[in-house]
Amino acid sequence: MKNIFVLITCLVLSIAVTAQGTGKKPHIIILATGGTIAGQGAAPDRAGYEAGKLPIKELLAAIPGVEKIADVTGEQISNVGSQNMTIEIWQKLDKRINEIFAKNEADGIVITHGTDTQEETAYFLNLTVRYDKPVVLTGSMRPATAISADGPKNLYDAITVAANPATNGRGVLVVFNEGIFDGRDVEKVNTTKVNAFAAPNLGPLGQVYDGKVFYYLNSIRAGNKSTPFDLQKIQSLPKVGIVFMYADAVPLTIDAFVNAGYEGIVIAGVGNGNFNKAFYDAVDKAVKKGVVVCRSSHVPAGRVTLYDEIDDDKLGTIVSDDLNPQKSRVLLMLGLTQTKDKKTLQSYFFKF
Ligand code: ASP
Repeated sequence: MKNIFVLITCLVLSIAVTAQGTGKKPHIIILATGGTIAGQGAAPDRAGYEAGKLPIKELLAAIPGVEKIADVTGEQISNVGSQNMTIEIWQKLDKRINEIFAKNEADGIVITHGTDTQEETAYFLNLTVRYDKPVVLTGSMRPATAISADGPKNLYDAITVAANPATNGRGVLVVFNEGIFDGRDVEKVNTTKVNAFAAPNLGPLGQVYDGKVFYYLNSIRAGNKSTPFDLQKIQSLPKVGIVFMYADAVPLTIDAFVNAGYEGIVIAGVGNGNFNKAFYDAVDKAVKKGVVVCRSSHVPAGRVTLYDEIDDDKLGTIVSDDLNPQKSRVLLMLGLTQTKDKKTLQSYFFKF
């Protein structure tokens, strides 16, 4: 079994944990960022929408009964389709989350977010939030105006998970289509369907069903207070770009990133992080100029391992372990705020 997760309960012993029975209702703050979940479409059979049209109040009005699980309040952080997510919004989210927990303003946080880059935001926050309280992202594939909109159910489930004490200490999670996913492993795996998220390497941590939360796995790489990436001490993030490898690819973008002063490049390689001779030569040049190059892969699952078909010591590259290219970029950006030492950066990829 992969070393990232430890199986803590076997299926027959799975525990159903609810927030009920603890007396006081938990306070959950929703931080809204936009996305389809807050979108309004032109007609019930249309999935197209305009981002962030619906305020939090209206999102909550669509989930009657939520007041029985938690006292919910909301704040608008941004109003974007998540294809327009920015590092600035990530920093704003991180600041507000850490502040909410530092001041004990809430027991848990739910972030409503577009699905396109939700996995990146989840991983970024997993690496930067310094508290053990629940942080849960969710969204929807269909706008509120569509037939069978999935937003209300996802939001209800996310609040249920965030309100549950068993969620403490699990890092930042994504709740979608009744699955509870680790922010590190989760990926968007479908462009249009409501089962749009999966954890291709390790599977979901648990499920939320009928208002109950069931956990089966524990992540030993969940974010926690000892994270070295304290954004309060970091003003801006170094530039890191991603280059896609394919048959007969030319390395123009590698050279372009180097010339533009990027400090890191992630190669979305083929197979086990492989690339062709032209890429190899361009990577060699980039590394010699001090750019940190990380080999990842655009294969949907699996690890990229050191010293396979490419001699990383000789070329001076590091590998992504089982992070996809977009998550590798997040970790490399944060890693480069701490060090340029490749051994240390590589250790981050095996640790976080
Ligand atoms: N493009 C939208 C977004 O990421 C898609 C969605 O939310 O499902 O904001």
